[in-house]
Amino acid sequence: MINPNTSKKINKLPKPNNKQLLEGILNSDRTALSRAITLVESELKKDRKNANQLLQKCLPHSGNSIRIGITGIPGVGKSTFIEALGNHLIDFGKKVAVLAIDPSSSINKGSILGDKTRMESLVKQNNAYIRPSAAGNSLGGVAKKTKESILLCEAAGYDVILIETVGIGQSETLVHSMVDFFLLLKIAGSGDELQGMKRGIIEMTDAIVINKADGDNVKNAQLAKKEFQKALHLYPPKENQWIPKVLTCSAIQNLGIEAIWELILEFIYLGKKTNYFNSNRINQNKEWLNYLISNQLLYEFENNEQILKNLPLYLEKIQNNEITPFIAAEELMQFFK
Ligand code: GDP
Repeated sequence: MINPNTSKKINKLPKPNNKQLLEGILNSDRTALSRAITLVESELKKDRKNANQLLQKCLPHSGNSIRIGITGIPGVGKSTFIEALGNHLIDFGKKVAVLAIDPSSSINKGSILGDKTRMESLVKQNNAYIRPSAAGNSLGGVAKKTKESILLCEAAGYDVILIETVGIGQSETLVHSMVDFFLLLKIAGSGDELQGMKRGIIEMTDAIVINKADGDNVKNAQLAKKEFQKALHLYPPKENQWIPKVLTCSAIQNLGIEAIWELILEFIYLGKKTNYFNSNRINQNKEWLNYLISNQLLYEFENNEQILKNLPLYLEKIQNNEITPFIAAEELMQFFK
C-alpha cells in the first residue's frame, strides 16, 4: 500500500473488528493486512489490547516464511534489489512481503518526496505486499512493530518477508534479531572496501552482495568481491558454521539475482538440517522478550510520577557534584518501587 491516496481511502472505511481482520488476513486480503498492521502500530491502549488479541490468533498461522534482512547505505540500490529479488520470487510462485524498518527508509522516501513510486513493478504484483514503516516513530518503536508485522504477513500467507533497513543507529542489530538471513548490500568503492564499515556488521552478515556490477563497474565489483572474501576468512566461524559468502549482482539489469536466492535457499536448507533455523528463531524470541521487558520498564520508569518529580532534583545534584550517579540511581529506584 505504497500509494498515500490508497491508504487515505482505507482509513476512511469503517473500522473492522478483530474477527473480520483475522478472516481477511487468513484470506490474504491486503486491505485487512494493512489495517491490522496499522492497529499493531497504534500506541492507543485500546488498540494495543486488540492488537495483542489479533496477534495471538495469528500466531498458529505464522512462522512459515523465510525472513530476510537487507541493509546498506542509501543509494546502494536496496529498493532496486528488493524489486528484482521480489519479482524473481513471484515468478516462482512465491508471495513476497516487503517491510521497512527505518523511518528514513527508501520505501518511504518515494512517497514522502512524491518524486517517484519506489518498486514500481513490484507494487503492481498481486502477490506482493509493500509496507513502509510508520513515519515519525522512533527506531525502537518501528522495529517493535516490524517484528509483529512479520507475524501478520506470515498469517496472510507470505512466503518470503524482505525487511529493509538503512544502517542507522541500532537498526541493523534489531533487524538481525528478527530475520533468518541477513544480507549486506555494498557497492565497489575506492578499493579499500572494509574502510567505513560499521563495527559488528560483518559478524551479523550471512552474505555480502556487491551491487551495480554492470558496465564499467564490473571489474571493480570483482576486485571488491575478492577483497571481502579475503577479509571474511579472518573472522571465526559462526555458531551455525556458515561462512558468509560474497556475491556480485546488478539489480537494475537483473543479473546475479538467481544465484543470491539459491545461496539463501542453501543457507535455509542447512539450517533446517542442523535445527539451527528453529533454535535461532526461538532464541530470537527469547531475546525479544528481554528487549520488550527492558523497554517497557524504562517507559514506566520515565513516566512514573515520583520519578518525574525527583529526577530533575537528582540531575541537579549530579550537576553540582553532590552525589554519585550510582547512589542517585539507587535512590531513584526506591521511588519507583
Ligand atoms: P536505495 O537508496 O539503497 O534504496 O537505492 P535505490 O534502489 O534507490 O538506487 C539508487 C540509485 O542506484 C538509483 O538511481 C538506481 O537506479 C541505481 N541503481 C540501483 N541498482 C543499480 C544497479 O544494479 N546498477 C546500476 N548501474 N545502478 C543501480
